This record gives sequence, C-alpha cells and structure tokens, in this order.
Amino acid sequence: MTAPLDLLDLDPSLSEEERQIRDVVRQVVDDQVRPYVADWYDKGRVPARELAREFGKLGLLGMHLTGYGCAGASAVAYGLACQELEAGDSGVRSLVSVQGSLAMYAIWRYGSEEQKQRWLPSMATGDAIGCFGLTEPDHGSDPASMTTRARRHGDDWVLTGGKLWITNAPIADVGVIWARTDSGVRGFAVPMDTPGVTAREIHRKMSLRASVTGEISLDDVRLPADALLPEAIGLKAPLSCLTEARYGIVWGSVGAARDCLETALAYATTRTQFGRPLAGFQLTQAKLADMAVELVKGQLLALHLGRLADAGRLRPEQVSVGKLNNVREALAIARQCRTILGANGVSGEYPVMRHANNLESVLTYEGTSEIHQLVVGQRLTGLSAFA
Ligand SMILES: Cc1cc2nc3c(=O)[nH]c(=O)nc-3n(C[C@H](O)[C@H](O)[C@H](O)COP(=O)(O)OP(=O)(O)OC[C@H]3O[C@@H](n4cnc5c(N)ncnc54)[C@H](O)[C@@H]3O)c2cc1C
Repeated sequence: MTAPLDLLDLDPSLSEEERQIRDVVRQVVDDQVRPYVADWYDKGRVPARELAREFGKLGLLGMHLTGYGCAGASAVAYGLACQELEAGDSGVRSLVSVQGSLAMYAIWRYGSEEQKQRWLPSMATGDAIGCFGLTEPDHGSDPASMTTRARRHGDDWVLTGGKLWITNAPIADVGVIWARTDSGVRGFAVPMDTPGVTAREIHRKMSLRASVTGEISLDDVRLPADALLPEAIGLKAPLSCLTEARYGIVWGSVGAARDCLETALAYATTRTQFGRPLAGFQLTQAKLADMAVELVKGQLLALHLGRLADAGRLRPEQVSVGKLNNVREALAIARQCRTILGANGVSGEYPVMRHANNLESVLTYEGTSEIHQLVVGQRLTGLSAFA
C-alpha cells in the first residue's frame, strides 16, 4: 500500500505471503496493463487471450480453487490480486473474475470429474477461455424467469434461447450456460464451437471498453448427455457462482478507487492555482480526507470478509454488504477525484474517468445495488421484497 493512503496501517495485518502475491500482481499490472490500457479502452479492443496466458503463468486464473492446475490460494490473497488488477482496469479484473470465479468455479464445484479434467487445466493456464451465460435479453435481475430451454432428445440435450451481456463470450472456448429444464434450472458446459452457438460482440459500450462482451444465440444446440453439470441443480447453483465473483468485486472496486485517489493526490500536489497547490486548499483537503476515509473503510471491509471466507464462515448477504458498499463508494470516489483534476479529469490521459465509467458496469453486474439492498433488507426484516 502506498504509505499516505494506508491511514490505518493495514499493511502489517497481511501475511508475508499475501503481501508478496499483491506485490507481484501490482508489478504485472504496472508492466503489462498500465502502459497500454488507455489505448485498449480508446479502441474498445483488448488482447484478452495474451493477457489470459500471462495471468495463467502467474496462477491468477482460478487462483482460489484447488487441484487441476489451480493455485489454491487463500481468499484474502485472491482478493488482493483482484484489488491490484482493478487498480489497472475493471475490465482486466473482469477477465480474471469471469474465468476463475464464474466459469471455472462452476465446473470445479458442479462438474463431473471428466468435465473438470477436460476444461480446468487449460483454463488455469489461460489456453482456454470461459464465459458464464446467465443474463438474457428479457431477464437480468430476475434470472428465475429465464426462457432459455434445454430439452432431452434421447440421451442428448437440445438448447434453445439466448444470453446477453456475457463477458468473454465472443472469445470463449467454453460457455457455462444456464437453462430451464423440466426439472428446474440446470447448467451446461458448452463448447462454443458447437453447431448452433453464435457469439456476437456488443459494440459501443461506454464502460468496460477493455473487456470483451457478447450476445450468445443458442439455436437448437445439440449436446451430449455429459455436457450437463451433474451437481448444479436449481438456481442456487449459478447464484453461488455469483457470490464467488462478487467477493472479488468487493476487493477490486477498492483497487479502482485507490488508483483514482492516488492520481488525484499526485495531481493536487503539483497543480497550482491562485499561487498554491490545489492540495493546499481546505476544500480540496476535505475531499481528499473524506475519500481516504471511505477507501480505508472499504479495504477493512474487504479484508474482514476475506478472513471470514478463509475461515469458511462467509455468508452471501455479507458479500452483498461488501459489494453494495465498496462499489458505491468507489464510484463516488472516482467522480470526486474527477473534479480535482478539472478538465484533465475527463481526459483519457488520466485513468480517473475510465475507472468511473467502468464502475458504472460494476455497479450493475453481479447483482445491481438495488438487488443487494434487497438481499440485506431481507436479512434485516425476514421479508423478501424481490417480487
Ligand atoms: C459489461 C457487463 C458485463 C456483464 N457480464 C455478464 C456475464 O458475464 N454473465 C452474465 O450472465 N451477465 C453479465 N452481465 C449482466 C448483468 O449481470 C445484468 O446487467 C444485471 O444482472 C442487471 O440486469 P439488467 O441489466 O437486465 O437490468 P434489470 O434487471 O432490467 O434492472 C434494471 C434496473 O431495475 C432495478 N430492479 C430490477 N429489479 C428490481 C427490484 N425487484 N426492485 C428494485 N429495483 C429493481 C435494477 O436494480 C436496475 O436498476 C454483464 C453486464 C454488463 C454491463
């Protein structure tokens, strides 16, 4: 942690190994993301396969999973890696989250031994890319209403329907696709080159431009019986994968906020107006102080949730608390930092507006803020206000 922003001396509460992992990921982000990411964002193109292989070499893909070539790191170490990746760009962190916490986790947790052997080792190295298809054009926050269907034809399954806003879909080798069957929602590991599967890239995003997002059409896609994830029964299976990914966002969003605050702090100390640095004005210091307080609160929350996860005691609604607070505050920090940079704040020469725009997507995906408020509200009141 850059010293001035570590107001509460959190650094010593990390283990030596956790600090080492964090520092290695920070270095990789400095070398392989920061110099290029503004350009990727500008052009809406990111070398996702190359990045995945680089991250695979470091053991960042499926990092918190065990076996099958995965690193078996702690939840806190995984969170610290997410923080560093998202300090580079939320889209880059999304690549790692979708691969490890959604696609790989689904296969690792719910797949057959054959499915694990087939997909996980190559996904851990980044040679195979995965995506996770839950959201549909007409069903986002309410996946229980999904209309994608899987029907039995003899031993085979036939999938029809469509998925929208699917990270990595246009470049994926395997899609974990969720579909309604006669016995409820089930998951399938679908090779993306199966006849009837089409993945088109979504263009003109104003957010997460350094991430590939797509639409998947499933047009009578015939799959062998062993494409079914045998242990994934009902909607709780995809929801458990989302809890995994949201945990990474709790940490990642703080990384984006930290990068904004570091940028604003450096800018405010060097830019002078009215004969003194911006940082010397009381109004600027009030902004910086409030943001630093929120940042460190977000880091404390992430670390607390991480320690609960490592103790096997983390509950889904606690992850909702983290996602709700940390993304909301990270977005507020990014917007406030933008004001400190004045006109330069809207320029792609600085990372702040890019982070702010990215965080708009992060606020929405993996459960919107409103959905997490409802999760926490249900926990508080015992009443479900979803429908
Ligand atoms: C860049 C990007 C990448 C994504 N990647 C993936 C992916 O890899 N896989 C995947 O499956 N999905 C992905 N998503 C989709 C994402 O998870 C959905 O967008 C999200 O769940 C919200 O669904 P929606 O957009 O349909 O909004 P809607 O559900 O239509 O919601 C619209 C608004 O209504 C509010 N709302 C809805 N229901 C309620 C309620 N009961 N009470 C109060 N307010 C409510 C929401 O909070 C929101 O503000 C991605 C999205 C983006 C933007």
